[in-house]
Amino acid sequence: MNCSISLECLVIKKAYIFRRLQKDPEVFVGAEYQQYRGWSCNKSRMTKKELEKLLTTRLKGKLEILGNLAEKRYKNYLGNCGEVHAANKVLKQNDTIAINQLTFSNAYRPRTLQKINYCQNCLDTFNISN
Ligand SMILES: [Zn+2]
Repeated sequence: MNCSISLECLVIKKAYIFRRLQKDPEVFVGAEYQQYRGWSCNKSRMTKKELEKLLTTRLKGKLEILGNLAEKRYKNYLGNCGEVHAANKVLKQNDTIAINQLTFSNAYRPRTLQKINYCQNCLDTFNISN
C-alpha cells in the first residue's frame, strides 16, 4: 500500500460489502492519483479483444512491453488483475496521469479479508512493492 489512508479504508469497506453479498472475486484493490480514484476486483475472463477495447493506450502499451494481453505470464493472465482495472479507471479520468504516478491500496481477498501480495505482473507494471 502506498495510497492515502482514506482510499485504503474505502477499499476495505467495499471488500466487506463484496463479502456480505457473497460475490467472490479473488482480489479487490484501489488506485489513486491526487483526487482521482478507482477500484476494481480482478476480471478473470476478459479476452485480448475486450482488454484492448477497455484499457487506456498508456496502460495497454506498458502491459504489452511485458507480454501478450490475456495470456499467462507467471501465475496470472496479463491484464486481468484488479490492479490493472483499478489503475485503468484512474487513468481514464485524466489524460495527463502517468502510470508510475499511481498509488495503490493493499489488495484484499474479499472472502477472507486477507491482504494478498501483488503479483509479479503488477510489480513489473506499477511503481509498487510487496
Ligand atoms: Zn497482478
